[in-house]
Formats: sequence, structure tokens, C-alpha cells
Amino acid sequence: MAKLKLEYIWLDGYTPVANLRSKTKIVEGDPDKFSLEDCPLWGFDGSSTQQAEGSNSDCMLKAVALYPDASRVNGFLVMSEVMMPDGTTPHPSNTRATVLDDADTWFGFEQEYFLMQDGRPLGFPESGFPAPQGTYYTGVGYDHVGDVAREIVEEHLDLCIAAGINHEGINAEVAKGQWEFQIFGKGSKTAADQIWVARYILMRLCEKYEVNVEWHCKPIRGDWNGSGMHSNFSTKHMREVGGKEYFEKLMDAFRKHHDEHIAVYGPDNHLRLTGLHETQSIDKFSWGLADRGSSIRVPHAFVNSDYKGYLEDRRPNSQGDPYQIASRILQTIATVPTA
Ligand code: ADP
Ligand code: MN
Ligand code: MN
Ligand code: MN
Repeated sequence: MAKLKLEYIWLDGYTPVANLRSKTKIVEGDPDKFSLEDCPLWGFDGSSTQQAEGSNSDCMLKAVALYPDASRVNGFLVMSEVMMPDGTTPHPSNTRATVLDDADTWFGFEQEYFLMQDGRPLGFPESGFPAPQGTYYTGVGYDHVGDVAREIVEEHLDLCIAAGINHEGINAEVAKGQWEFQIFGKGSKTAADQIWVARYILMRLCEKYEVNVEWHCKPIRGDWNGSGMHSNFSTKHMREVGGKEYFEKLMDAFRKHHDEHIAVYGPDNHLRLTGLHETQSIDKFSWGLADRGSSIRVPHAFVNSDYKGYLEDRRPNSQGDPYQIASRILQTIATVPTA
């Protein structure tokens, strides 16, 4: 038996964007055999997280996914849902509980973000601006992506892979100090859980570098790219049946529900979805073949295989809650008959 360090992670009640919170529970167990089922229901003071009144402040934490924590001896990261005191009713802030359970729905999220120090992106001079964007995307060399950024993203990648998070890749992005990682998961909640845990790992890692992770979708005004979280999705029907007629009905539904999608695709998205910088403007819905200026990009492979495969919703931003995004996409898909 060993002392295991369980870091319970949850989303607080702040709006429009929840903050990550966590605290450690020590339990005795065998680190090689420890599993999700071994994680006890736990509680916290909801009056300190905007999830309860002080007079009746208990909220419960239900463990929903477990990841090894390579930064700690015998450590585990425990992604949790916030429940009411009865332990079984989801708390109103619990957006994960709103995602339809479906093992055959797959999501791939492309998370963009800035690394910041002293209020400006890494690599920005104390006053003024660095060279305009152009050579930073997938760049190499100190002038392009230098300083501590490379060290941070490499360390983050290793920690995520050790945790069993299904990273598909990382890259330096278009603006200086801007980066991306991609996570893919089978099951309607898998990738969303992993995005939140990967965000947590990154923020915690950056503490020792005195660097902040800026998730806002447009931290630098002007001719600097904003940050998105392109959301790639497919259902079993989309992958195996598809067809042009179904695709067109699906896009009609996405057009009809455009405003409801935008409402949960992250705050301040009007600053990012301008029609510039590879985006469609926020008040328009469009889809396009391999078109990065559309709301939904249809990959060539999708059309070439009789409209089967996945689609890329380019509207969600970097600060969006992947649970709410997945939930909304599945709600809209559910309005379209498959027969
Ligand atoms: P981009 O050119 O937009 O960066 P990528 O090809 O890098 O696009 O990313 C596409 C993403 O689509 C992959 O990261 C993956 O997560 C996701 N993806 C691939 N196949 C599927 C699928 N069948 N269902 C859902 N998502 C998928
Ligand atoms: Mn990408
Ligand atoms: Mn990108
Ligand atoms: Mn993309």
C-alpha cells in the first residue's frame, strides 16, 4: 500500500467562463491497480466557487475520469463532475452532465492559446510589437518561436502523453507566443474531458515559469490572429451512411441553430469571428469545401467518399467549454432524421 495523491479537478460556477479548481485527497492504495471506481465521492465548499450559498455550502465531486499525474510521485488527476449534496443530481453548473452519452460520437478539438508574461505574449518586446505575423506559424529559431515557450510546450506534451491524454499533435501558431495542441477522442465526452485536463496541466506547469496561459480568443487587438478551438466531429451515421442529402439537411439545421451555437462557443467571439484571419464573421453561417473562411469546413475526403466522415466547426473559440460545445453539436444533430 502507498499513499496516493488524488488531485480532484472540477469546473467552478463563474460565468461566462468557468475556472478550473482542484484539491488533493490522500488515499491508501496500490498505484498500479488504482482505478476510477476506487475514487470516493468527495465534497468542497461551494460558497467559495460561486456554486452555493454560505448557509448551505456543500457540493459533491463525482470522479468521472482518471489520469496518471507524472509530475507527482503516486499522483493521479481525477476529472470530476459537480453534484448536489445528494451526490446524484447534477449541479446547475455541471455542463458535462448535459452531453448526450454516445460511445460512437467522436470529437477532435484543436486548442489554441497564448503564453503570456507581464501582460504580453512571450516574445513581444516591452513596448511596441515584434515583426508582423507570417513566419511564426510552425516556425523554428529564436526569433520566431524562441525563449521559454518551446520548453513549456514540450514539457506539457510529455505530461499529457504520460497521463494517457490522446494528443494528436502540437504546433506553433500564427501569432507570436501562440500555440496549439490537438486532442481526439472516441465517445462523446472523452476529448472534452481531456481538453479540460490538458488545460489544467498546462496552467499548473506554467506556474513555475511565472507564465500565464491566456485562453481569451483575442488577447491582442489588430492584425494578430485570435485563438480558436476548431471542433471536429462525427457520428456513426456520418461516418458510415452519410450522403449528400443527409449532409445538406445537417447544414440546414446548423444554419437554423447558429445563434444557439454561438451562445456556447466562448465569450467575445465577435472580436475573433470577423471574416478576417481565416474566420467567417459571427453573424453569418456558411459551409465550404476546404474553405477556412467558412463556419464549417468540409474536408475534401468527406465529399470524395460520398459525404461520409467528419466535419470541422471553426466557430468555437479557445475559451469555450468543450462540454457545452459537444452538447450543442449533438443537440443540433439530433434534430435531423437519419432515415
Ligand atoms: P486543420 O487543418 O484544421 O488543422 P487537422 O487535419 O489538423 O485540421 O485536424 C483535423 C482533426 O479532425 C484531427 O485533429 C482529428 O482530431 C479530427 N478528426 C479526424 N477524424 C475525425 C473523425 N472521424 N471524427 C471526429 N474528428 C476527427
Ligand atoms: Mn490545426
Ligand atoms: Mn490552428
Ligand atoms: Mn482546424
